[in-house]
Amino acid sequence: MSSKMMKGVSKQAPGYDQMAFIDLPVPEATEDKVLIKVAYTGICGSDIHTFKGEYKNPTTPVVLGHEFSGQVVAVGEKVSSIKVGDRVTSETTFYVCGECDYCQNKQYNLCPHRKGIGTQQNGSMANYVLAREESIHILPDQLSYEGAAMSEPLACCVHAMYQKSHLELRDTIIIMGPGPIGLFLLQIAKEIGAFVIMTGITKDAHRLALAEKLGADVIVDTMKEDLAAIVNQLTDGYGVDKVYDASGAVPAVNASLPLIRKQGQFVQVGLFANKLVELDTESIIQREIEYIGSRSQNPYDWPIAIHLLAKGAINIDEMITKKYPLDDWREAFDKVMEGNEIKVMIESNPGEF
Ligand SMILES: [Zn+2]
Ligand SMILES: [Zn+2]
Repeated sequence: MSSKMMKGVSKQAPGYDQMAFIDLPVPEATEDKVLIKVAYTGICGSDIHTFKGEYKNPTTPVVLGHEFSGQVVAVGEKVSSIKVGDRVTSETTFYVCGECDYCQNKQYNLCPHRKGIGTQQNGSMANYVLAREESIHILPDQLSYEGAAMSEPLACCVHAMYQKSHLELRDTIIIMGPGPIGLFLLQIAKEIGAFVIMTGITKDAHRLALAEKLGADVIVDTMKEDLAAIVNQLTDGYGVDKVYDASGAVPAVNASLPLIRKQGQFVQVGLFANKLVELDTESIIQREIEYIGSRSQNPYDWPIAIHLLAKGAINIDEMITKKYPLDDWREAFDKVMEGNEIKVMIESNPGEF
């Protein structure tokens, strides 16, 4: 048994807050496991929902953090493709059954027995994190640790755009919600070459301005402008080919459904606050809209996400707006909850990377 101790940001019990900065043993890398000294962890919207007690998925107590990068410091005896010193990131899959139909196709995001890092298994808001060999990706030299810590949310967006829908160069699309996910979707779409209408509300003004800087063809404040008129004018009345929702706002979703071209697609990338909502099913059926759910990411999405980051398709500097040392995790969470940042990073071992 290792007796070395470390610090971790732990959700201790269900309910609001219930968070603590705890001491816990550095995990041991046995079998196919790899021990990573964490460089950066991005704070995700789901971490905030967990903080507030709104997200029921995590089993407590658990150390949070599932968007991370770091350096390998130990490997288990069965590990052959990863070595000490490698610069890495990891998929969030820690355990899957390996036997269900989904696992057979490496669709680990759908395995009913899946355990994820930072939800059911201790995550990376700690000095060290354990991952399994199969989930790990070695970083290209030109990709920074800061950038690599965005691989996971970017992979979720790759999943939505490359796997669940097939975004094309000729597409005109709407992306709703200019938060981190919306802005990642935007940058992927611009890399493909699609025409992007990015929508938000008045309080998103500075995020919409950033969207314009990151390549959005049109930005629309739906509280001040008539989205329907803009879409009709841009598409000769046909409507957009696809809508990607990263707003989770039901009124926005319903406003967008009649603006989708007949036989177009609606892709739900984020969760709604409530599981039962009133949707414009009339538009869905009359326009033969394909309504698509996109959940998390799977192994197919990761090399694409890492490639996009490494080739500079994602503006890492604009996406990361604050960094905090691990000790100041609470301040980092508060900053995210204020709602003015894009991506906030926690630095697990400040000054060591
Ligand atoms: Zn996340
Ligand atoms: Zn399975």
